[in-house]
Amino acid sequence: MKVLKFGGTSVGSEEAIRQVAKIVQSQVEQVVLVTSAVGGVTDQLVQIGEVAASGNRVYISHFETVKVQHEQLYYNLIENKPDDKFYKIIEEFEDICKGIFLLRELTSRSSDYILSIGERLSSLIISEFFQYEGIDITLFDSRQYIVTDDHFGHANVNFKETTKRIIDAKSGFTKVSLFPGFIASTSDNQTTTLGRGGSDYTAAILAGVLEADHFEVWTDVDGLMTADPRMVKRANFIEHVSYEEALELSHFGAKVIYPPSIQPALEKGIPMTIKNTFKPEQKGTLITKEWDDTKQLIRGISSIKDITLVTLSGSGMVGIPKFSYRFFRALSSAKVNVILITQASSEHSISVGIDAKDDKVALKALNEEFGELIENHSIDPILVEKNLSIIALVGNNMRDQVGVSGQMFNVLGKNGVSIKAISQGSSERNISAVISRDDLSKALNVLHESFFLYSTKRINLFIIGTGNVGKAFINQLVKQFTFLKKNHQLNIKIIGMANSRKMIFEEDGTPLSKWESTLANGAKFDKKDFMRHMYDMNLRNSIFIDITASEDVAALYPEILKKSISVVTPNKIAATGPQADYLNLKSMSKKYGSRFLFETNVCAGLPVLSTLNDLVRSGDQVHQIEAVLSGTLV
Ligand code: ASP
Ligand code: MG
Repeated sequence: MKVLKFGGTSVGSEEAIRQVAKIVQSQVEQVVLVTSAVGGVTDQLVQIGEVAASGNRVYISHFETVKVQHEQLYYNLIENKPDDKFYKIIEEFEDICKGIFLLRELTSRSSDYILSIGERLSSLIISEFFQYEGIDITLFDSRQYIVTDDHFGHANVNFKETTKRIIDAKSGFTKVSLFPGFIASTSDNQTTTLGRGGSDYTAAILAGVLEADHFEVWTDVDGLMTADPRMVKRANFIEHVSYEEALELSHFGAKVIYPPSIQPALEKGIPMTIKNTFKPEQKGTLITKEWDDTKQLIRGISSIKDITLVTLSGSGMVGIPKFSYRFFRALSSAKVNVILITQASSEHSISVGIDAKDDKVALKALNEEFGELIENHSIDPILVEKNLSIIALVGNNMRDQVGVSGQMFNVLGKNGVSIKAISQGSSERNISAVISRDDLSKALNVLHESFFLYSTKRINLFIIGTGNVGKAFINQLVKQFTFLKKNHQLNIKIIGMANSRKMIFEEDGTPLSKWESTLANGAKFDKKDFMRHMYDMNLRNSIFIDITASEDVAALYPEILKKSISVVTPNKIAATGPQADYLNLKSMSKKYGSRFLFETNVCAGLPVLSTLNDLVRSGDQVHQIEAVLSGTLV
C-alpha cells in the first residue's frame, strides 16, 4: 500500500485535479490519498473569519467568492450541478460565518471549524470526480479517524485512539481511499486542525499507522536541490538523501517538507519520495532511513537569506551560568525562534542568529532582561547586526572526514567572504556560517563549485584596454577557450570589458566571437562606474585585467585586491613605482587572498619572473640583476 499526498497547488485547478487523477490511475497498488484544500483557499478562509468577526458585512462577498470557485470547479470536472453533499457543507460554511459575524467573535474553535471547510470541499469534489472517471474510490471523513485534544488551531494527536480507528477503517478501504488532510476532531467530535500545512502530517500519520510501503509527497517542485536554484544556476536535483539530511536541508531554505510533520512516517522508516505533480516523469527525491553511499561528502548547501545576529557580551558574563539561561529565556518568552547559536569557549559572548523580522522584539526582550546590567557596565549593550545570511553545508558523510570545514573556509576566504559566526552541530552533519547577505550568492556558488566536483571551474574576467595588446590577448583567449576548458577545466568568461570609449557587462559572459561588435555598442565608459559594477556583481573567482598603460588604473589595484579580486597586468606602472607602493600591493594580495601577477612586465612573453621565482624557491639566491629588459627591447 502507498500513501500519496497532494498539496494545494496540486489540487489548485481543474487541470491540476485531472492530472492527479492520471497519477492515481497509474498506480498498481492500493492507494491512500490525502489532499489539501484548493490552493489559496485556507488563506481566504482565515480572512473571512477575521472580516466577519470584525463586524464587516464584506465577509459575505468573500464567502460567495469561495463558494462560486468551488461550484465552478465541481461543474467543470463533473459536468453537473453540485449535489446535496456539496451544498450541505456550503450551508454549514454560511452558518458559521453568520454566527461569527453576529457574535463578533472568532474563537480558535470556530476558526478551526471554518478552516475545515477547505479540505472538506476539495476532498468531496475530488472523490466525486474520481468516481465519475470510473475510479474505485471511497471518501473517509478524517475527523472520524484522526483524534486530537482540544488545542484548537494546532491540535495534538491522540495516537493510541487514532491508530485504533485507522486500523478499524482498513477493512473498508477500496482501490483508492481518500482522506482530507489537515482536519481532525476531539473525542467529543469538535472539529480541530493540525496546524497550517498540516496535510503532510495527516498523510504521515496514515503512512505510519498503515505501515505503508511508500509515502509520496506530490508538490509543485521536482524535489530537494543541492542549493537554491535562484542563486546557483548549476544546482542539481538530489536523487537520494537520508532522513537526517533531508531534515537539515529543509530547515535551511528548502521548504519542501516541514520536518515535524513527517515524523510519524520517519519513525516507522517508511521510504518517502518528493514528486512534482506537473512533471510525474521526473524521478523526484527519495528519502530513506539508511544511506550508506560513501561517495558524496556534501549532499547540499542550504541557506537562509535574511537573518540578524544578536550578541550578548561582556566580561561580567564569564563563568556565570545563569547568563545563557536568561538570554534564551528572554528570547523564548518573546517567541523569537533561534536559528543558530554560537558561544566562544572564553564565555565572553553568546551570539544567536534569528529571523530578520524578529529583531526588534528580540532586542526589546533582551534590553528588558539585561537593562540593569548594561547600565552599570557589567555587560556590553546588546549588539544587533543586520543584513546577514546563513549558509550551511549538509551531508551525513562529513562526519568521519577531516578537512571539510578547512575547505569551506578556505574557498570563502579566497573569495573575500568574511565570516561573522560559525556553528557546527556535534552530529557533524551540518556546518553553518553567518556571512553578509551581499556575499550570499557568491558564497553559495563558490561552495557549490568546490564541493560538487564540477568538471570545470568558472573564472570571471574584467578587462580594461582593447588596444594592440588587449586585442591580441582577447583573441588568444578566444583561440584557447576550448583547450583551457578541456585540458585545464577552466571555463573562462569575460564579464566586464572596456576601452577608453565604451564598456559592457554581461552576467553570463560576453560571446567571445562577437566581443568587438558587442563592445562597440556598449555604454559610455566611466572608470568609476566600471569599478562599482565589478564590485557590486561580487562574483567568485574574479580577475581584473588591466591592459592599459594608465597611471589612474594602476592606482586602483590596492582597492581591487582588497575586494579579493586578483589583478593581472602588463601595465608596468604599479610594479616600477616607489618600492613601498609595490610592497603594499604584495601585502594586500597576501592579506586578501587575491593574486597580483605581472609576468609580462619583464621581457614581455618570456617567462623570466616565474623562472626566477622557481629558482629562489628551490634555494638559489639573487646576488645581482644586471639589466631589466622591457618587451620593446627583446
Ligand atoms: N490547507 C491547509 C493549509 O493551507 C493545510 C495544508 O495545505 O497542508 O495550511
Ligand atoms: Mg616575461
